Amino acid sequence: MRAVVTGAAGFIGSHLCEHLVSRGDEVIGVDAMTDFYEPALKRRHLAGLLGHDRFSFRRGDLLDLRLAPLFATADAVYHLAGQPGVRGSWGAEFDVYLERNVLATQRVLEAARDTGLRRLVFASSSSVYGDAEAYPTRETVRPRPVSPYGVTKLAAEQLCETYRTVFGVPAVSLRLFSVYGPRQRPDMAFSRLVAAACAHRSFPMYGDGGQSRDFTYVGDVVRGMREAALSPWSGVANLGGGCEVTMNQAIALVGRLAAPVRVTPGRARPGDARRTAADITVARNAFGYRPATDLRTGLAAMVLVEEVSRRPGTREEPVAGRR
Ligand code: NAD
Repeated sequence: MRAVVTGAAGFIGSHLCEHLVSRGDEVIGVDAMTDFYEPALKRRHLAGLLGHDRFSFRRGDLLDLRLAPLFATADAVYHLAGQPGVRGSWGAEFDVYLERNVLATQRVLEAARDTGLRRLVFASSSSVYGDAEAYPTRETVRPRPVSPYGVTKLAAEQLCETYRTVFGVPAVSLRLFSVYGPRQRPDMAFSRLVAAACAHRSFPMYGDGGQSRDFTYVGDVVRGMREAALSPWSGVANLGGGCEVTMNQAIALVGRLAAPVRVTPGRARPGDARRTAADITVARNAFGYRPATDLRTGLAAMVLVEEVSRRPGTREEPVAGRR
């Protein structure tokens, strides 16, 4: 299969590109290398891909690039480029969220309209649910985002549905639930937690630790994305990890895997839902999605990568933890 991956240098995008080339797909990765976090980290994410004969990289912004020629020969487009993070989406930064999540998605959909694409897979988010009315949450539950980020992801997802209904764009929106694993974005909780534990620093926690998430290992997510692209199904589906864990439970687990963690308590931030839990029946029935990595195994992979990266002179990740 020939694929275009937007957001290819990001956390999930780089894992997806590696998974696709490992399965024999030809991949064009696109990324603007935004400075939301260190672009040097993104260059490192691409290190294992550049030079691969089935991978090529195009640096550019979806808001400027001519996308139709890029999509012309593709079977699948995986649209992961976007501005993540719930807490930063209030205030003046909202413009950036609107541009990178809503306007960029509209450009992708316009370019996808008159192509022979078999599938357009969009990385939506559990943030569309906010504090949901029911758990585990099904796709039919009314979305009630509690952050501007969630509002922009919901708007982008609705655009995918509109282009699917009106123009037949074969869009699949996957609502990803708290993705974790090696290379997780440095602003995310597990990445900060594992780094703090391995460096014997304290971990600044938002909230009382009783907040819970349905954590999903990145290897399971990228496999689910490819399965969705290969299936004839389109629509909206949850991709969760299958287990709901509180932050306090995760802290205790990292304490056992790395070193006991000293926690600096802080207040919960506006934009954080209290709880997330996915009902994954739709994804299982539609394209055979089955998360296979439990939290202990996934966190152990993160700890291993962090410990190796802390050894003097080490720049690259070890192979362990990759799929
Ligand atoms: P990330 O920030 O690591 O990756 C996003 C990439 O998109 C970055 O490399 C960035 O440079 C690129 N990008 C942003 N705007 C662009 C533009 N206009 N043109 C080209 N490139 C652009 O984030 P991530 O955690 O890998 O998330 C990937 C996607 O999955 C995002 O859309 C995010 O909203 C969604 N998502 C992530 C999670 C999670 O837990 N990480 C959960 C739900 C949804």
